[in-house]
Amino acid sequence: MRRFIPKLQLTRRPVERVLRVRSQSEARKQVTHEGTFALVVPDRTPKSLVFQCPCGCGDVISLNLMRGSTRAWRLSISRGGRLSLSPSVDRTTGCRSHFWIIDGEVHLYRLRRA
Ligand SMILES: [Zn+2]
Repeated sequence: MRRFIPKLQLTRRPVERVLRVRSQSEARKQVTHEGTFALVVPDRTPKSLVFQCPCGCGDVISLNLMRGSTRAWRLSISRGGRLSLSPSVDRTTGCRSHFWIIDGEVHLYRLRRA
């Protein structure tokens, strides 16, 4: 029997563009490219962050940014416009990617069978 030893592989991808939109549907229309992120701001408070999964699977991910709700992410944008997000995104469905967004860069970890 052959044993597969999983290895963690790190890929880094830049957050290329951050767009401000007013609705989820508008966000989904904008995120046609992997490095494009849409921040949904219906009034003053950012409600969600919408983007394509950085692994390349094509899934569109929408993260809740509303504080006080059960599962919310904290978004920060540096003076230079670089995005950070916490905690990490650990997908339990689809491609099961796990990634961090730190200072304008997506750090994606994937299991690779060695
Ligand atoms: Zn994916």
